[in-house]
Amino acid sequence: MATTDELKTKVCRALDALADELEAISHRLHANPELCYEEQKAAAWLTEFLEQKGLKVERGVGGLPTAFRATVPGSAPGPTIAIMAEYDALPKIGHACGHNVIAASGCGAGAALAVALKTIPFPGTIQVIGTPAEEGGAGKVRLLEAGAFKGVEAALMIHPRCGTQIWRPSLGIIKVKAEFHGKAAHASSWPWRGANALNAVIQLFVGLDAMRQQLRPDARVHGVITHGGDKPNIIPEYTAAAFYLRSPNKEYLKELLRRFEGCAQGAATATGCSVTVTVDPTMEEPLKPNFSLAALFEKNLARIDFPVDPEDTEAGYGSTDCGNVSQAIPTIHPYIRIAPNGVPGHSREFAEWAKSPLARTGMVAAAKALAMTALDLLASPEELRKAKEEFAR
Ligand SMILES: [Zn+2]
Ligand SMILES: [Zn+2]
Repeated sequence: MATTDELKTKVCRALDALADELEAISHRLHANPELCYEEQKAAAWLTEFLEQKGLKVERGVGGLPTAFRATVPGSAPGPTIAIMAEYDALPKIGHACGHNVIAASGCGAGAALAVALKTIPFPGTIQVIGTPAEEGGAGKVRLLEAGAFKGVEAALMIHPRCGTQIWRPSLGIIKVKAEFHGKAAHASSWPWRGANALNAVIQLFVGLDAMRQQLRPDARVHGVITHGGDKPNIIPEYTAAAFYLRSPNKEYLKELLRRFEGCAQGAATATGCSVTVTVDPTMEEPLKPNFSLAALFEKNLARIDFPVDPEDTEAGYGSTDCGNVSQAIPTIHPYIRIAPNGVPGHSREFAEWAKSPLARTGMVAAAKALAMTALDLLASPEELRKAKEEFAR
C-alpha cells in the first residue's frame, strides 16, 4: 500500500507531465471567452480532457447545460471530495478574472489524481465539479439548490490573484434593479407635460452617494444605468439601473437594502415618477472560513516550495457564489498568484497576466496543492473530522 507521501509525489509528477496540456487548455479558454451560462466550448473542451484522462463524466449536471461532474471512483467506500472549476468570462474584457486558470488547475488536479491512482486502491471518491456562471449568474447556488453537491464532504477550489493568500474574506451580495416610470413629452416644446425618469435615476445615484458616508467602511454599493432614455428630444419615460449591495455581514445586507429602497422611493417622489425595485432572489453569501482545510492546503504549497504572500492591506474584497458552498459544506477558496502585486482583477491588465508564464506557474502549483489536499482528506479521516468539526462550530 502506497503511503500518502508517495501518492503526493506521484500526483505532482503527473501534473508536471500534464503541465503543457493544461496550459494549452487554459490559453484556449482565454482566447475564447464565454459569458455566464454560455460556456458551451469551455464545458466541451474540459469534459473531453477529463474523459481522456479516465474520469467518468456527466454533462448538464443540476439542469445547467454547461455544468458537469467528473468522477474518480475509489476502490472502497470513503468520503467524497469535490474540486470546483469555473470557466466563465466577463463581457468585453474576457478572462479578466482568470477563470481559465481555475478551470485548468481544478481539472488538472482531477486528471492527475485519476492518472496517479489508476492502479492503486484508495477509499472514497474525487469529483471535479464544473460550475458555470460565477460572474453574475450564481451558478454554484443553482447547483447547490439542484442537489449537485449532495454527498460532498469537502469542497476545494482556487482563485487567481495578484498574490497568494490562503484565506481572504468575501462579501455577501444582494443584486437589485430599480426601474423608474415617468411620462414622455417633447423635451423642448412641452417639457412641463413630462415626468423625467432619467432625472429620477440620476437622483437615485446622488442619494446613494449622500448615504455612503454613513455606511460601514466594509460595505459596498455600486451600480450602472442600464437604460437611460431613447432620444434627447423625448423626456425619458422609462429608465433602469442595476446595483450590487455588498457586506461581509448578512444582517447588514438587509439594512443596505432597506436604505436603498428609501433612496429609490425618494428619487421617484422628487421627480414625479414611480419606481419598481426588484431584488434578485439569489443572495450570494460571504465565504465561511475553514482554517483546518486551509492549513492542509498551505502545508501542501510549502511541500512544493510555493511561497505564500502576506495579506495586502491595500485591496478590498469581492464576492463569490462559492460563499454559498462554504455555508453548506467545509470549503476552501484560497488565492494563487498569477500577476504582480497590485494588479486588480477585472482589469485588462489582469486578463493579460491570465495567460502569462506566471499564470502557468500558479496554475500548476495550485493543481498540485488541490490534488494533495484531496489526498490528505481521503487518506486521513482525522483531517476530515477536524474540518467538519470546525464547520459545525
Ligand atoms: Zn470575477
Ligand atoms: Zn472570479
